[in-house]
Amino acid sequence: MTIRTRFAPSPTGNLHLGSIRTALYSWLYTRNRGGEFVLRIEDTDQERSTKEATQNIMESMEWLGLDYDAGPFYQAERLDKYRQAAEQLIEEGSAYRCYCSKERLTELRDKQLANKEKPKYDGCCRDKNLPARADQPFVIRFRNDLEGSVSFEDQVLGPLSFQNSELDDLVIIRSDLFPTYNFCVVVDDLSMKITHVIRGADHINNTPRQINIFRAFKAEPPIYAHVPLILGKDGKLLSKRHGAVSVLQYRDDGYLPEALLNCLVRLGWSHGNQEIFSRDEIIKLFDIKDINKAAASFDPEKLLWLNRHYIKTLDSKVIADRLKPFMQELKIDYQTSGPTLEELVVGLRERAETLREMAIKSRYFYENFEQYEDDAKKHLTPEIIPFVEAFKQSLEKLDAWTDEALHQAIEEVAKQFGLKLGKIAQPIRVAVTGSTVSPPLNTTLRLIGKQNTLKRISAVLLYLAKT
Ligand code: GLU
Repeated sequence: MTIRTRFAPSPTGNLHLGSIRTALYSWLYTRNRGGEFVLRIEDTDQERSTKEATQNIMESMEWLGLDYDAGPFYQAERLDKYRQAAEQLIEEGSAYRCYCSKERLTELRDKQLANKEKPKYDGCCRDKNLPARADQPFVIRFRNDLEGSVSFEDQVLGPLSFQNSELDDLVIIRSDLFPTYNFCVVVDDLSMKITHVIRGADHINNTPRQINIFRAFKAEPPIYAHVPLILGKDGKLLSKRHGAVSVLQYRDDGYLPEALLNCLVRLGWSHGNQEIFSRDEIIKLFDIKDINKAAASFDPEKLLWLNRHYIKTLDSKVIADRLKPFMQELKIDYQTSGPTLEELVVGLRERAETLREMAIKSRYFYENFEQYEDDAKKHLTPEIIPFVEAFKQSLEKLDAWTDEALHQAIEEVAKQFGLKLGKIAQPIRVAVTGSTVSPPLNTTLRLIGKQNTLKRISAVLLYLAKT
């Protein structure tokens, strides 16, 4: 049997962490089993679905490298299929037209609520076999069994059972001829030959309804796995309140897709105590049966930790390439002069938590600055003038502008003035970067380049002469 899973988002907003994690699990399962992964856009809710949201879904998947083998299929382009399928169910006696007015249904609901009953359609049109009428609006309802139960073995939650008496004769085609969610899902999962449905636990109550519709089509339902939802650190459902929840926000904030992917997969799935997984490794190890039953909580600190790890360890060329959009956004001209982006990455990778931070911290390698940062000024006192002057002279004479030669030059000045390395390094660092934080001083000077280093040292001497 070919495994076929699907990701079926509704394009009603930016794709968030919870949704992409279920996509990731579906994708991993298919990749592990050599199956197929289908993308289906569930856009039948015309009022809430937008093109931007669809674009956001595609971009998020592309960024994380979740490629699909079939689709995207758009439900809004398949309306005829759902209508035909509903007609088929009417013919076979598994669905019926219902002409109950809104007013009647509201009255029914109010009465049931007043009697402390669960609101439910009372089956008024269920056995009337009413024909289609052009002059009066109607809906099509599914004829759910009144008795018995629906049982299935959820791959995460274990055996589950629901009483049919709890389920409604749900509307499958609305009066405007648009199909409803539970119906489209079944028609599509069936025609797309989906074998495994991995989705959020918020859909658990839809599953028995969907299984009944599968059975009405005389088809075997797929295997279901309902993944517990993601919580914030406070134990509440993950939401905007906890910071960024949209996938692309993480991209724009300078996170690496490797880090987010790694973080997401661990939210609800584990392999011993291992925390860091390469993409190939997760594909090899992933299995639905290892998904945790309990809800997982998302820890932004852990994501940051993973991001630092990947910034330090991924190929510097890859990081350099990913850094480009941030440099462009910050309008830092990295092409005309200064270090190459790869050199920059090697210099800064130990010190940046995100690509954005790395880009922000790179400005002084490419541009002269106007001012020393306030907290850095305290290092610029008249006492430093003699050794800054001596250091300038030794740099002017330096032929090789390398980490080694620069290190030696710094050491020599320190020795000459009987000062500790740090006492010399910090004022020079402030002189050339404007701040107190940078990569090791020799690397910093090498990346800034000889000409700009000397220019900035002359500038600090001028500044010192004025203070
Ligand atoms: N369109 C549904 C959602 O976004 C997906 C449900 C499903 O996976 O069956 O929640």
